[in-house]
Parts: sequence; structure tokens; C-alpha cells
Amino acid sequence: MTGQPLRLLLADDPRAAGRLVADEICAVVRGTIGCRLGLATGSTPRPAYRELLRARAEDHGAFDDVTALLLDEYVGLDPDDPRSYRATIRSELTDGLAIPPERVLGPDATADPRSACAAYEATVSAGGVDLQLLGIGRNGHIGFNEPGTPFDSLTHVVDLSPTTRADNARFFDRPEDVPTRAITQGIGTILRARRLLLAATGAAKATAVAAAIEGPVGPDCPASAIRRHPDVTVVLDRAAAAALSPSVRSAR
Ligand code: PGA
Repeated sequence: MTGQPLRLLLADDPRAAGRLVADEICAVVRGTIGCRLGLATGSTPRPAYRELLRARAEDHGAFDDVTALLLDEYVGLDPDDPRSYRATIRSELTDGLAIPPERVLGPDATADPRSACAAYEATVSAGGVDLQLLGIGRNGHIGFNEPGTPFDSLTHVVDLSPTTRADNARFFDRPEDVPTRAITQGIGTILRARRLLLAATGAAKATAVAAAIEGPVGPDCPASAIRRHPDVTVVLDRAAAAALSPSVRSAR
């Protein structure tokens, strides 16, 4: 893939960014029969998910035939554990959109992790992903693909870095409760989605965003891989866009 200039959409604040993300998702869902939607968890997508739930009434059943696919999942948490990503995405979005639980697909976190990876890779590649939503970590990760992950990696098990575990500790009672491993779609898996939509909000993401969009393309910054994809939209609020060079910001 040669990559095209990515589309950069700037918003004033996280809520406005959420509206832009929701609009992008709605447009793809409306235009795709049986849309396979790749979803991310974390704080960034929440305003977009709230917006999608608000918009549902006007969407005249557009989400009725959607299949949701998770980007990643913790190893060892039961799917019904509220801290699992499958349970999180159900409570934050898919239950409210009336997407039945059997059409919310993700790695089987309680199976043997290596078999679970192979099975999930097959699930993702069987029908593909029409739109993959991505967040970005402070260290530039996408999904749980930490710096150093090869761009051709498929779904795999990762040992979570101390930074990532610390960032995710807010979702757990105690920091030591954060699982040490996760299963993530690989960067190669992500790049096979038909469209990518990366969202970032807040000043803590500004350096990673600038590295992803303007720094060298390579495994040191996993998110830079999006520049190898031909159809990418990036949605940022002002704070997350703050470290981009003025020419990049004003060119959009
Ligand atoms: P966040 O996580 O949306 O909670 O900031 C994004 C990520 O780490 O990929």
C-alpha cells in the first residue's frame, strides 16, 4: 500500500470530536449493507458512542445489521466481567444500539491465548472490517500494539507495558488488578480494514499524534502505520493537535 494523504478533521473539544467521529461512523454504516464495524474501548470513543446512541432514533434501523468487532481484549477476564472490553463495548454502545451480543465479536479471553488469537484473526479476515476505529496511546500504540511491533503482525498476545497498565488502572479498583496480558489485532490486521478512523483528544496525546502524523513511519511509533493505509481519517481536538506543525494543521 502506498498511502494517500490522510484526512485530518479538527474539533474544538472532545465532545465536538465525538460528534465528528459519530458522523463518520454513521456515514459508513448507512452506506454498507451488513457493516462490520471495528470498535475501540477507552476514554476517547465515549463521546462518539454517546452521540451514536442519541442519533440512533433518526437512523431508521441503520445499525440493525451491524456486526461489531473488538480491537483487543484482556487475557483472562470473563466476557461478562464488566472490566472486559466485550462487556464494556456492550454497555457503552452495542446494547444501546440493539446489536445482539452474538454479533459483538472479540478474542476469546478465557481460551488458550494462542488458539484464541488464531481463531480471532480468522474471524476478522473472513468478512473483513469496513471501518476500524482507533485510539492512540501516549506511547503511540494502537490497539495493544506497543512500540516495536512489526507492521505485518497479526492478532497476537502482548505483555502490557508499565505505561499502558498505569494508563488503564483507572478502570480497576487497584492498579495490581490490571491484567498483565492482552490479545490485540496486529498492525497488519488493522491495516487490512477498508477504512481507518483514528481519534485522539487531550494534551496528553499531542506528542504521540505528532509522531504518528509527521514523524518517521516505523515500528517505534505503531500509529505511524496508518500512513501506509489508503483511506484514513484522523479526528483531533485542539489539545491533541497542539504539537502538529502549523502547516499540517492549516492545510486541512
Ligand atoms: P484512551 O486510550 O482512549 O483511554 O486514551 C487509547 C489507547 O490507549 O489506545
